[in-house]
Amino acid sequence: MKTAELFENMTIFSLEIFPPKPDADESVIYDTLDELTDIHPDFISVTYGAGGGKNGCKTIQIASDIKNRYGVESVAHLPCIDLTKEQARGILDSMQEHGIENILALRGDCADGSSGSGDFHHASELISFIADNYDFNIIAACYPEIHPESRNAVEDMKWLKHKVDCGADHLISQLFLDNGYFYDFYEKARIAGINVPVEAGIMPVTNKRQIERMVKLCGVELPRKFVRILEKYEDNETALREAGIAYAIDQIIDLVADDVDGIHLYTMNNPYVAHRIYEAVQSLISAKRSLQAVR
Ligand code: FAD
Repeated sequence: MKTAELFENMTIFSLEIFPPKPDADESVIYDTLDELTDIHPDFISVTYGAGGGKNGCKTIQIASDIKNRYGVESVAHLPCIDLTKEQARGILDSMQEHGIENILALRGDCADGSSGSGDFHHASELISFIADNYDFNIIAACYPEIHPESRNAVEDMKWLKHKVDCGADHLISQLFLDNGYFYDFYEKARIAGINVPVEAGIMPVTNKRQIERMVKLCGVELPRKFVRILEKYEDNETALREAGIAYAIDQIIDLVADDVDGIHLYTMNNPYVAHRIYEAVQSLISAKRSLQAVR
């Protein structure tokens, strides 16, 4: 099923996982999926490391297994920064042969900060390429706190609108810790004429290293409330994990109450944390869906 169709009158709850490293035991991801699929998410997306190689094959295989073995809809990510059109065609053909219907089309980042050596310079070019040659449902990334390379929010929104005009059917946001950024962004996106569903990306921050990496990579602002939690519990692993779970639950409850199109939980392949969060919010999401069904 195409993910864009899921949103008709329903608040979506989806998950993201990443494939195992090339030298890791592959069975672990299937243990993780055994537990994550118990949540009955609307779909599970599988990341794809820019620079792909063998890990790209794992993305395709895992996304195919999620759909065909577990019966849960899947999304395969595809970053294009270092792909030629011929390579992209090979990967997309393989995704199609594996029964995958949904692609999260991304630019990706080069490890050395360069602009890449492939045929695509921006995600929009990959989106057009897919829309012109295939029948996939296309998803794209968006940034409530703007993409770190963008000069300002107006420029960022202009290019986001361009991605939608090129064929993106659904957007998933970068993580954020202050819901205010998401609400402002959502309103501006609608004013800009972006009318596709926008899922809010939520990452439960459960350890200090993860926070440092997140701030460096994504330029996400740490709200005062969050910094206070961090200062209090940074040396207590269990307390920080519990506080991170509670913080994510709080964000989701607020977002669902505010009629968000969907929640995309970055699970970091941690079923324990995903279950804790889902158990706390599932009755709210079910109640919301019951109301939506009678409308
Ligand atoms: P783009 O849409 O190309 O945007 C990048 C920058 O260029 C922005 O500043 C934008 O405003 C600007 N821009 C866009 N189009 C144009 C244009 N035509 N002309 C000039 N400027 C333009 N990375 C991975 O490697 N693998 C993954 O699996 C992965 N999954 C992700 C999932 C989500 C939900 C998100 C939010 C990000 C993910 N990323 C992943 C990270 C992503 O690849 C990076 O954030 C990357 O820096 C930008 O990708 P993009 O698709 O948003 O790029």
